Amino acid sequence: MTPLEDAQEFVLGQCPPKQPVDVDRRHAAGLVLAAPVVSTEVVPPFDNTAVDGYAVRAADVATADDTPVDLVVVGEIAAGAAPDRVLGEGEAIRIMTGAPLPEGCDAVVMVEDSERLGADASGVERVRLTAAVPVGAAVRGAGDDVRVGDEMFPAGVRITPAIEAVLASVNAQTVTVFPRLRVAVLSTGDELVDDGSPLQMGQIRESNKTMLAGMLAEAGCEVVDLGVVRDDELELERVLRTAAEDCDAIVSSGGVSMGDYDVVKAVLGRIAEMTWMQIAMKPAKPFAFGTLRRPDGGRVPIFGLPGNPVSSLVSFELMARPALRRMMGHARLSRTSIVAVADSDFARTPDGKVHFARVNGEFGDDGRYHVRPVGAQGSHQLSATASADAMAVIPDGEGLPVGADVAVLLLGDAS
Ligand code: AMP
Ligand code: MG
Repeated sequence: MTPLEDAQEFVLGQCPPKQPVDVDRRHAAGLVLAAPVVSTEVVPPFDNTAVDGYAVRAADVATADDTPVDLVVVGEIAAGAAPDRVLGEGEAIRIMTGAPLPEGCDAVVMVEDSERLGADASGVERVRLTAAVPVGAAVRGAGDDVRVGDEMFPAGVRITPAIEAVLASVNAQTVTVFPRLRVAVLSTGDELVDDGSPLQMGQIRESNKTMLAGMLAEAGCEVVDLGVVRDDELELERVLRTAAEDCDAIVSSGGVSMGDYDVVKAVLGRIAEMTWMQIAMKPAKPFAFGTLRRPDGGRVPIFGLPGNPVSSLVSFELMARPALRRMMGHARLSRTSIVAVADSDFARTPDGKVHFARVNGEFGDDGRYHVRPVGAQGSHQLSATASADAMAVIPDGEGLPVGADVAVLLLGDAS
């Protein structure tokens, strides 16, 4: 058996990051920056007010905490409008959040500290201000978020919705990123039914491809669904060769177990450079990895996952997902790992393998993450595993008692 770390290293070594490309920022969500983003604009672009209120000279309202100060209201500036006059002594301008500060003003009194007095007989409008404010109060300075030349995000950062928003705020039209991967997914086996028809004896419903397509999408890949391929060598070869022409990677499930003759093995063994592994882990011991040469000479990685649904999931998590993330330029390849508390025992017997128990977990009053195994741990029992929050890593040996520290990989973390 191959130690898991060796198997992972072997696969990662053959899945280098893709060549960076420049893409329209609006199509870059979820992708990883291949070059830093340097701002060419300031944010905010001008000094503006953080509150609705009155633009004033701080000196004019210095005594307002003790005695309210009445100022003449000489105008109003809404967000989007430009100031059309300079603020003089004894004057105030009504101003809305985000509006540019007029010249002459050095602070804003918020509307909650004001009282409208209305216009007097000669049409002069006044406001009563009841709070003193220091110079700069409620003023957002030009460039206090981003300045021209700031390196806002270094290479290796994944573009989240918030980062996309910052890119929009500085008018970054294109970004240099690692391209989104196009990944083909297929399942193999004569027993698989995926069209909703009644099951004949010996048949089961296809489920892995459904799961893997979703996991690929969650990992940020574009998914190409190749469907269920019968145990037919010519058909499988045709499907794989076509996929290699326009996909960056291929994920298949089924037909990689040891011993039995399998169509997947026969075809991949013939058309690709494959390594068939028995990884020292449970579930998901059988695993195949290889590359298929495409017509242009490039090599397309193929991940041959085991057919048992839970094994397929675990194999994808530990073997395929990190490699696909590497190809997409991610710096961190594996799931977040934390030390949790075992709330029930994780008994096992020594077998030379590391076991990945699927667990449910939650944070306790002690601030620690507590885990217990999901009900059924069989590699065909996907229904229990399907709602697992994490995988507990149980090293080879006699298992772990209640209360022990246990390393867990948090599933469902999108970073
Ligand atoms: P295999 O790896 O092809 O030997 O399959 C191992 C087990 O997983 C068998 O019980 C298969 O019927 C089952 N299996 C294989 N592929 C799928 C699939 N796509 N969906 C559900 N079960 C599958
Ligand atoms: Mg099969």
